[in-house]
Amino acid sequence: MNDTQDDLCVLPETEKLPTDAKALEHDFRRYLIHHLGRFLGCNPHYLYEALSLTVRDRIMTDWRNTWLQHRLPKQRRAYYLSLEFLIGRALGNHLLNMDIEEQSAEAMQKFSLSLEEIQSEEPDAGLGNGGLGRLAACFMDSCATLKLPVLGYGLRYEYGMFRQHIQNGYQVEEPDHWLRDTNPWELERAEYTQRVHFGGHTEHFTNRRGEPRTRWLNTEEVLAIPFDVPVSGYRNGVVNTLRLWKATATDEFNLDEFNAGSYPESVAAKNDAEHITMVLYPNDSSENGKELRLRQQYFLASASLQDIVRQWEMVHGDDYSNFAAQNVFQLNDTHPAIAVAELMRILIDDKHLSWDQAWEITSNTMAYTNHTLLPEALERWSVKLFERLLPRLLEIIFDINAIFLKQVAIHWPGDSDRRRRMSIIEEDHGKSVRMAYLAIVGSFSVNGVAELHSDLLKKGLFRDFYELWPEKFNNKTNGVTPRRWIAHANPEMTALISSKIGDGWISDLSQIEKLKPFAGSANNKLFHAQWQAAKRSNKTRLAELVKKECGVDFAVDSMFDVQVKRTHEYKRQLLNVLHIIHLYNRIRRGDTLDWTNRCVLIGGKAAPGYFMAKRTIKLINNVAEIINCDPEVGDKLKVAFLPNYRVSSMEVIAPATDLSEQISTAGKEASGTGNMKFMMNGALTIGTYDGANIEILDAVGSDNFFLFGLKVDEVEAMRAHYDPESIIAADEDLKAVFHLLESGHFNIEEPGIFDAVIASMKDPHDPWMTVADFRSYIEIQQQAANAYRDQQHWTRMSIMNTAC
Ligand SMILES: *Cc1c(COP(=O)(O)O)cnc(C)c1O
Repeated sequence: MNDTQDDLCVLPETEKLPTDAKALEHDFRRYLIHHLGRFLGCNPHYLYEALSLTVRDRIMTDWRNTWLQHRLPKQRRAYYLSLEFLIGRALGNHLLNMDIEEQSAEAMQKFSLSLEEIQSEEPDAGLGNGGLGRLAACFMDSCATLKLPVLGYGLRYEYGMFRQHIQNGYQVEEPDHWLRDTNPWELERAEYTQRVHFGGHTEHFTNRRGEPRTRWLNTEEVLAIPFDVPVSGYRNGVVNTLRLWKATATDEFNLDEFNAGSYPESVAAKNDAEHITMVLYPNDSSENGKELRLRQQYFLASASLQDIVRQWEMVHGDDYSNFAAQNVFQLNDTHPAIAVAELMRILIDDKHLSWDQAWEITSNTMAYTNHTLLPEALERWSVKLFERLLPRLLEIIFDINAIFLKQVAIHWPGDSDRRRRMSIIEEDHGKSVRMAYLAIVGSFSVNGVAELHSDLLKKGLFRDFYELWPEKFNNKTNGVTPRRWIAHANPEMTALISSKIGDGWISDLSQIEKLKPFAGSANNKLFHAQWQAAKRSNKTRLAELVKKECGVDFAVDSMFDVQVKRTHEYKRQLLNVLHIIHLYNRIRRGDTLDWTNRCVLIGGKAAPGYFMAKRTIKLINNVAEIINCDPEVGDKLKVAFLPNYRVSSMEVIAPATDLSEQISTAGKEASGTGNMKFMMNGALTIGTYDGANIEILDAVGSDNFFLFGLKVDEVEAMRAHYDPESIIAADEDLKAVFHLLESGHFNIEEPGIFDAVIASMKDPHDPWMTVADFRSYIEIQQQAANAYRDQQHWTRMSIMNTAC
């Protein structure tokens, strides 16, 4: 199991394989014919596999050398713990990072194969729901490019995010068995298998030296097998690692059942272990206390921490004095927060450190990122469930809480309400563990993901904790990698930008501001024409996708108006629908002077149990159907719902978008990252004063951004007397929209199906206050439409968005 001396040798340059077209062609043929046993006319998946293996070979030496580099005890290593890594496709990304796109295309041409078609054979690795999982993937990319010693730890779900189909306008979920065909981008590392424990009970005893000790006994054991995924940096020889755990049963049989003669039953029981990493929970911004989910969380935390401690001991033996100085754990939301208690358990029970030593290490190595202000998304686990599944961990959490509450009592003497509010254990309605509080108490750093969000955390959700430990709280506004989202997704614009300012911006995005002087059209006529041409060919590519997936014709001269993101009430796809119906009403009444043709694209999955979100998808599809079939409408307005929105579709969508819809209720979108991908590809944002929209607005200036809607404090002020019915009554346009909706115009064949959706918007307690922002939304939409007709001016704004 241990690394041998040989393992520790850095591989020399001469060990590297050649990357010229000839060599790639040769290896591709060898893999296809001699390794996979296929031929050129085979199922194209094998062509993808053969090329991927060819490329992977050329990553191996850098991967190994990077691993050894990171083992040197000179720098602090970071571990990014996340239940989600929404990485999408890998092949194209590695080709870009290794600078072998041209050679690969040339090699494939020798076989009359198109590199692009081969790339499209790769299934998306959909190991995440949305923004939170994609953030993890973008961070991994950037850390490799910045040569930072960061290792990602996650789960290797057999089934990733479900595939979304649309049937009669309704979302239908289908399992995504993305690993059915072999995955060339993972390397099984069975030699680093870990054991994770569940259930059983604890026993307290005194050891021979008279010290109190705890044993965790009679547990079920599950094996965690690591699969390593390479994360290449941009043309820098660095290949970092994403380590994903797969759960399997131990080889030890359940002896009781075996003795009782239930051989098949005891073998079948082994399946239970494998269930842990079978499927990703498809909920965005909300969880529901399922036992399997808690098992997943502990499985990730325990396997990862044991793996890290094992590596530490290989170099440092049992000397933990420098551990905190050389390691740090970033918790991506509360999902892996059980790591706080698990590190304590490992250090105390397994490594025999004292409580104080273990706490010193834990509280100086854990850091927590909060991702949401929605109260329903704050994870709580019932104490009962914890006791049954993780009894030793619960004891440790109780001890952490007891010590913490003493601190609170010293800080606020006599304030028992404060202690109740801040306790890690919630006592109301059946005891539960508040995972966010465990994460805050156990961490040296707590961050929000945009300036506004971090600010709201301090004032609201975590106010008590901020008063106790102001120094812990900080902001890290989310970001996205320009490698995948510009250089890979938008090659035409990339070449154009680099022709003006060089290509340093690809690995140092701050350099993109050198593009600003080219935004003025006077001396840059040719550049502006090329910019428009790039956008146009990207729009053609998207129009082809929309035609293929939705059967709807998008004309490239129209303004492409796009909202893609998880379908959720707070993101207000419904507000978008109200605007679409309003435009439809205007066309029907002939109010089309100075009209701008528009193609509206909406996409996004709804959690399978989220009724309102799923019904919203149905509404979008029905509205689209009516509008697209109306001859009176023609090219003035087209509406399409793109099924199965995922990373690889965003790579086509963002470069083709003119107007990016970021219209959440102010104070609800923690950051947003879709907004950034659109902006950097030259889209204009139409958005509320929310999340990172605010920072986008600051960067690009209000002349280059369509801002609308209530601000956070205005939303909160209006809540007390919010009266959507009277807002509707007072607004002729809005009244007409609701009239059409309520008349059943969009659901003649299925009466009543939208009643709940309509009622939610008319409810004085509507948390998302959709109706409140209608007037300001349609006015700014009109401004955007007018602006679009001045293409010269629009192009200037587009370049400014990329440059800023
Ligand atoms: C960027 C991205 C998201 C996040 O989008 P938001 O608009 O910030 O919610 C979700 N899903 C995919 C596939 C993405 O690429």
